[in-house]
Amino acid sequence: MTNTTTGYLFSGPRGTLTLAVPCDACQAFHWHGAGTVERPLHAPGDVTERASHCHNGNRYSAIRISDVPYDRAWVTPMRGRFSTAYRRHLEVAR
Ligand SMILES: [Zn+2]
Repeated sequence: MTNTTTGYLFSGPRGTLTLAVPCDACQAFHWHGAGTVERPLHAPGDVTERASHCHNGNRYSAIRISDVPYDRAWVTPMRGRFSTAYRRHLEVAR
């Protein structure tokens, strides 16, 4: 069975693209490679099959890429956990 979760594209330093997948079990994001800004592997709206590498049992097998890009403010600076800004995004997206 396919278990699809949401991912957000993030343009990192040196033009790398990563896919940030929020994980409720970890209260943090998991990261998957998504190519580079010049050669992106994915576009918003795509669904990509990816194996979860969550240590807390979040077993997703596919990621649907959001139209909304990842926002650095979504995690706390010290521990990298979900911030109030991320919770606010979820409230608005609902
Ligand atoms: Zn996790």
